[in-house]
Formats: sequence, structure tokens, C-alpha cells
Amino acid sequence: MTHKLVLLPGDGIGPEVMAEVRKIIDWLSQNTQTDFDITEDDIGGAAYDRYGVPLDEGTLEKCRAADAVIMGAVGGPKWDHVDYTLRPEAGLLKLRKELDLFANLRPALVFDALIDASTLKPDIIRGLDIMIVRELTGGVYFGEPRGIEDLGNGERRGFNTQVYTTKEIRRIGRVAFELARKRGNKVCSAEKANVMESGKLWREEITKLHEEDYQDVMLTHMYADNCAMQLLRNPRQFDVIVTDNLFGDILSDEASMLTGSLGMLPSAALGAKKGQGLYEPVHGSAPDIAGQGKANPLATILSFSMALRYSLDEAALADHIEQAVQTVLNQGLRTADIMEQGCIELSTDAMGNALVKKLAEAISVV
Ligand code: NAD
Repeated sequence: MTHKLVLLPGDGIGPEVMAEVRKIIDWLSQNTQTDFDITEDDIGGAAYDRYGVPLDEGTLEKCRAADAVIMGAVGGPKWDHVDYTLRPEAGLLKLRKELDLFANLRPALVFDALIDASTLKPDIIRGLDIMIVRELTGGVYFGEPRGIEDLGNGERRGFNTQVYTTKEIRRIGRVAFELARKRGNKVCSAEKANVMESGKLWREEITKLHEEDYQDVMLTHMYADNCAMQLLRNPRQFDVIVTDNLFGDILSDEASMLTGSLGMLPSAALGAKKGQGLYEPVHGSAPDIAGQGKANPLATILSFSMALRYSLDEAALADHIEQAVQTVLNQGLRTADIMEQGCIELSTDAMGNALVKKLAEAISVV
């Protein structure tokens, strides 16, 4: 089985963390039945320097033809002077738009060894495993009309439109229900049906979809403000949370921060084309530590693991990688960002090597 992957390391610590993903891919290619056809290309500032644009058309074509795209991070002070439309971030936005990546998956998973990194009490978050599914291409961030208008006498009015169609709600709902079937089989849908018509439609459509195709999954509804509160009060009540673009932006940040560490957080964005997805760490290019061997590669490695699970149908390999991350952490191996007393501090490169070693121990070499 050969999987077609495009790797886009990007800027800052992007190439450093991607090099560790590459080590794992190379090891898997050499030692398991699974093979990878890898293309590397530039995105963001690196692409601007090479092609004059933050996402070249040729790169985009390669991404379209791939089973999954793995990205590092984009951006940095070097490109601060560049026109807004050519900024590194514009390349990432274009990629998301062109691949029609409408479903953002943000897991919040607490590793036992890092339980003290959270600001919440250990008893509240031990064993936490939530998946937030956020609609990414609709809602108030894109709705028309929008703008700022002059009302005269020094008054101005800013306005945006929250808008969702049946089709948009049903397709994100389907992603959530399908994911739940592979996890804890529970979906909580969050909106504000009490005060917003778009929320009322959201609730009706999710309920209808559930009745039609997903009665085996447990569905609950919650107002988004209550959901924000429940995430702090009793986060383990949730399995999959599905919500719109605006509420998802806030709830996914809140949920992921329950785990305490930016260097550990993966994410995925799934597209309309079946199986296709973009996988990237939640963190940015961290210019403050770039080139120093201090970056934690685990968020990007866990993003690759999500690609194995959600785009490449290789759940067993994903399990092995996630288990290897657990083992490395349990053994007290840490990068600087998650360092604790009594643990051993590793460089980016050494963390990648430690992980490959654990993988090799766990997977019987063919
Ligand atoms: P950042 O996530 O890059 O860094 C925030 C802090 O977390 C920094 O102190 C950094 O050193 C640390 N950090 C981040 N990732 C880490 C890792 N893997 N290991 C150890 N420490 C890590 O956010 P920022 O500083 O606000 O932004 C820097 C640049 O990244 C900006 O140009 C911004 O636009 C860009 N950015 C890109 C993305 C993306 O590519 N998806 C996301 C966010 C920010």
C-alpha cells in the first residue's frame, strides 16, 4: 500500500519539526508493509522567497493530487513588510480554501505524564479525550453583507452576517457522527438556538440527520455558552463536540488548552473530496526558538498520526505512534517547553530519535 503525501515544512521551526516526521515516515517505509510516496515543497515565507507567492500553483496541484498534506507552520518577522495578499498566512488560507477544507478537527487529549501542565485539577482532566469538530468555511466569518459604514455625526456601524445552509450543517454533522462511531459514540451539538435563527436551523438539521442516519450515536444539544462552562466544569462528559465556525474557534481553543501545552496539539482539516485532509500542529512558526533545536516536534508528529487515522486508513499505525508518544513521556523524556523537574531534556532531533526507537520496539519489524 503506497500513500501519496505532500510535506510542507514552511517557516521558522516548521522545517525542524517536519524533519522528525520525516524520520518516522522513513522508518515506517523501511520496516512495515506501508509505503509512502513523498513530495516536499514550500509554503508561506519560504514559498514567497522561492516562487514570489506564498502558495505556488504547482504546489497546490501536488496537494490536490495527494492523499494527505502535512504542514509545519508559516510566518515570521522576515515577511512582515510583505503585502498582505502575499504574506505567509495568505498561502495557508488559500490552501484551505482551494481544497475546500470545511471540517476542522481539534483533539484535546491529556497525556497522564503531562497532567500537571494543565491549569485544571488533575482529577478533572485525567484521561480526557475530546474531539472538537468546527465548521471552517461558513458562518459569520464569511457571511454577507459585512462591513463598516458611516452613519454620519461621527457614528459608525460594523456588521457581519451569521449564515448557514442545510447543506453546510449536514455535511459537518456527518463528519461528527462518523468520527463518534470510531470513538466514544457520543456527539454534543453546540449552538445558540435560543437567540439565533441560524442556531435554530442548526439544531433542527442535526436532529434530522441523526434520525435519518445515525440513531446508533448518542446525540445531545447544548447552548454554546453552557458548553464553554461545561468544558471547564466537567470536560470528560464530552466525546465529539460539533459546532459552527465562530463558536468552534473559541471552544476548540478552550478545549485544547485544557491540556496545557502548545507543542503537543495536533489538528486536521478535512475536505469535500473523500479522505483528503490537511494536517498541521496548532502552534505557529515560533521565531523566538527557530534554529535552536528547542522545538517540540510532537504536535506535528501527532498531526501525521491523525493523517494516518483519518485520511490513510492506517489506524493501527496511528495507535502505535500515539502509544510511542505516551511511552516517551512516561519515561520522563521532554523537550524544553514541557520540561519538569526530574525529567530529561531533549533537543528536537533527540525527541524524534527517541520516538523512532519506541516505535521500533513496539512494531514487529518485517
Ligand atoms: P507560536 O505558536 O509560533 O508561538 C507561541 C509561543 O509558543 C512561543 O513562545 C513559541 O516559542 C512557543 N512554541 C510554539 N510552538 C512550539 C513548539 N513546537 N515547541 C516549543 N515551543 C513552541 O505563535 P506566535 O508567536 O504568535 O506566532 C509566530 C508566527 O507564527 C507568526 O508569524 C504567526 O502569524 C505564525 N502562526 C502561524 C500559524 C500556522 O502556521 N498555522 C499558527 C499561528 C501562528
